[in-house]
Amino acid sequence: MAKYSSKINKIRTFALSLIFIGFIVMYGGVFFRNSPIVMTIFMVLGLLFIVASTVVYFWIGMLSTKTVQVKCPNCGKPTKILGRVDMCMHCSEPLTLDKNLEGIEFDEKYNRNRM
Ligand SMILES: [Zn+2]
Repeated sequence: MAKYSSKINKIRTFALSLIFIGFIVMYGGVFFRNSPIVMTIFMVLGLLFIVASTVVYFWIGMLSTKTVQVKCPNCGKPTKILGRVDMCMHCSEPLTLDKNLEGIEFDEKYNRNRM
């Protein structure tokens, strides 16, 4: 079960890694300072990664408005559900809003129909 994590957390990690990639690419451009064209390409690429991460962060904000806040039955903390099944942000307890799926083994494929 450890390989699953709350979807919002996953997207957040993705956005954060985009920022890091952006900075690494921009930093890589410094090694090509003798050729301004290559350096510019690196800078623009790095900037694109950072812009992409900003878009992803914006997307998280949009998604957050669609989540349903519930109290986790396992750890008792409030958490957010996105889609039909998601995981508790604190203890990774699988949670569902669909009564038909209750008790069925957690599987992320239940979300695909809605995507
Ligand atoms: Zn929990």
